[in-house]
Amino acid sequence: MEKIEEFFDITVPGKKPIIGNLHPLTLIKRKVVEIFQAMGFSVIEGPEIETEWYNFDALNIPKDHPARDMWDTLWLKKPENQKSLSRKRKFSRNLKIKNQKLLLRTHTSPVQIRFMEKNQPPLRIIVPGSVFRHEATDTRHEFQLYQIEGLMVDKEISVAHLKAILAEFFKKFFGRNTNFRLDPDFFPFTEPSFNVSVTCIICEGKGCALCKKTGWLEMAGAGMVHPNVFKNSGLNLNPPAGGWRGWAFGFGLERLAMMKYKIDDIRLFRSGDLRFLNQF
Ligand SMILES: [Zn+2]
Repeated sequence: MEKIEEFFDITVPGKKPIIGNLHPLTLIKRKVVEIFQAMGFSVIEGPEIETEWYNFDALNIPKDHPARDMWDTLWLKKPENQKSLSRKRKFSRNLKIKNQKLLLRTHTSPVQIRFMEKNQPPLRIIVPGSVFRHEATDTRHEFQLYQIEGLMVDKEISVAHLKAILAEFFKKFFGRNTNFRLDPDFFPFTEPSFNVSVTCIICEGKGCALCKKTGWLEMAGAGMVHPNVFKNSGLNLNPPAGGWRGWAFGFGLERLAMMKYKIDDIRLFRSGDLRFLNQF
């Protein structure tokens, strides 16, 4: 009987392993962080479960103030085992957070307070992180979002510095000179407050369905830090004139990603749909 020799063709190409890719929000977060780090901002993170004090009170949002309705909050039930928790709280250095109601943070701004409690100016930080809202989802709304908060505290800084930093950011992020404008707005933790809009990426200012024919798209909230926010974080900023001042801004990462990649439905980010995710 003839012997059949085993044949192994070493020239046949091997099977390619499936290589994953980074999520679009991770890519955007890294890009934003890189731009701000180049301008001397440090990356700071904070807890996603917050107390009412850090999420609202310390940020100059008094109890029962209508401004609190701007955030639809997911409150957390108090733990069953109250005994062990209250014992832990005895050691809490900050008496203001004692017996506080807990919630999922509705914005990254509480980290401003936490950071200013422990650090003296000059300060230059950005805070990326998840925030949560009690909200029905549609093409533009999600119950979990990513924000990037920015805070700068320095001598004699003004809205002009904020504009310069934003201009540099938009230029690097969108890769060209993007027009932007500041419109008056209201946030309890800044005074004056602004709404930051950029030229519509789709129609370049001519007016389309996305920008509702205005040619502008809202991108961020910003403003000069309210004196009460400084006071609540324990920063002594005397004298008021010629002393320390600060500004802050907050971007939605999903919004930035939607602009950059021209995505029309925010729910795609958490859909787990590989047809969508493999494009990045
Ligand atoms: Zn447009």
